[in-house]
Amino acid sequence: MTTFSKPMVMTERQKKFRAAYVNQISPFYNGLFHIGVMYLVGSLAIYYCTTQLSNPTWEWLLIIPVAIAGNFVEWGLHKYVMHRLVDVFALRAIYDRHTRQHHQYFTDTDYTISSVKEHRIVFFPWRVLIVLGVCGSVLGYIASKLINPDAGYILYMTMVGHYLLYETFHYCCHVQENWFVRTMPFVNTIRRHHAAHHNLGIMMHKNMTLTFPFADWVMGTSDLKRGLLGTLFNGFNEEHIRPELLPIIAKFREDKIQQDKVTLEGPILTSDEKEILGAPS
Ligand SMILES: [Zn+2]
Ligand SMILES: [Zn+2]
Repeated sequence: MTTFSKPMVMTERQKKFRAAYVNQISPFYNGLFHIGVMYLVGSLAIYYCTTQLSNPTWEWLLIIPVAIAGNFVEWGLHKYVMHRLVDVFALRAIYDRHTRQHHQYFTDTDYTISSVKEHRIVFFPWRVLIVLGVCGSVLGYIASKLINPDAGYILYMTMVGHYLLYETFHYCCHVQENWFVRTMPFVNTIRRHHAAHHNLGIMMHKNMTLTFPFADWVMGTSDLKRGLLGTLFNGFNEEHIRPELLPIIAKFREDKIQQDKVTLEGPILTSDEKEILGAPS
């Protein structure tokens, strides 16, 4: 069974949040400029590294462990920073923007945007790319000393490329449905995977990756009960959703429950629901 092309349904709670959020976006905000600068700077950084390579051979293989490590970093930051309040300035801001804003704006019954102004709620601010560039430079420098300069540049390119892929895949999760997001392998998988993550009942605990659901599969946080290949190429199939999650997913789609049992900090779960989700009680 595939379940794409479902009509989007917005609850009253979501409608209210969206109206208030859109109202407070600065009139000077330009969604195309926001992502244009991000993609331009990221692409130029990668291009610059390619011009610095001398003669890499086996060093290209470093892309594999660096990308896999990146997938786990994605998972860990999403689970432990974006969805857990760490009350330190920058980390609090990340939590605020994600749990208290992004997850109120989108739910699993309406996870789409219809204007470039809404890029504000989908894409990270520029400072995330800057922090990533600094971390990439430090790690790239260490790799260049420990291995060789080509290894350092390839590590840096992989990190920046991973970030741009993250933003692109996340955008593909929130655009209006189209041929590309419906049929492109991995993109269709992550779109369903992330839409499910936006269910207000399971959002704090399930489906934390945004590129490939590999780390979710390894860490047991996927909403699917499937093998690795099935999970990676699942597309929009909803047949393999863990049956124990279905009542929680259905419950938190109701407006009344959303009004009474969901706060800006996430859902108020019963002890049984917490146990099913593997949440601390
Ligand atoms: Zn999202
Ligand atoms: Zn999230």
